[in-house]
Amino acid sequence: MSYITTKGFLLRIVPYRDNDVILDILTSEYGLITCSARNIRRKNGSLQQNISPFIFAEFELFYYRDRYQLNSSEIIEHFSPLAEDIQRLTCLSHLSELVMDILRYQPKATKIYAFWAYASYSIVYQEDPIFKTYLAQLKFVTDQGFSPWIENCLICHDLIQTEIFHFYLNKGGILCDKPSCRKHGVDSSIVLLHQANISAIFYLINLPYEKCFNIKIELELRDEFILFSKRYVNTVMEKEYKKLDILTTMEKFEKGIYE
Ligand SMILES: [Zn+2]
Repeated sequence: MSYITTKGFLLRIVPYRDNDVILDILTSEYGLITCSARNIRRKNGSLQQNISPFIFAEFELFYYRDRYQLNSSEIIEHFSPLAEDIQRLTCLSHLSELVMDILRYQPKATKIYAFWAYASYSIVYQEDPIFKTYLAQLKFVTDQGFSPWIENCLICHDLIQTEIFHFYLNKGGILCDKPSCRKHGVDSSIVLLHQANISAIFYLINLPYEKCFNIKIELELRDEFILFSKRYVNTVMEKEYKKLDILTTMEKFEKGIYE
């Protein structure tokens, strides 16, 4: 029986019984901590003020028989734009779903804490949170060992010199146009990428967290990057993430594109 005090990001809040919730807290010292919090929900379903989605806080937890229970919490960073910005909130909610899908199996993964700190800051406070989220999710799966192969042809390793690259999702990399290489790719898995987006992916993979979320690309290439990031992450995670779809639909609607 003991108490621990730790700082962490609140990644997920799941309602439990009438007034309780289960919290998933990402900490730097202990990795992911799942704890119960009693009597946190009010009658109208809202949460007490010291708990809200994605806050960074100092948590005091009670540890007993392999379980954690929340004793108190003190918010350090509210990420206040989230309270009024459904777009940024949806972006973080999507990213936390992806991050939790990995943390569930590797709760002690240490690098994820720094990733979340930089990625969430950039999504909450910087311009174009949707693009930031697609950058962040690609960086995240790369860190987990699913790096897209973009330096040369995945099969023959020849340098590819072209304006538009053929990225084969089924192989996880680009292929040159030699028939002996292309025969390894499945046509339905091709995503076309301009040279500028190949460079953007290269920088994203190689730059540290402090810099990689500042990558900018021309507006004409933004949709291409987003489509690649979406299909690539869904492919490597073997899951269709859907939370961001509503935002891209709204974006098209605002631009006057109806499908
Ligand atoms: Zn080749």
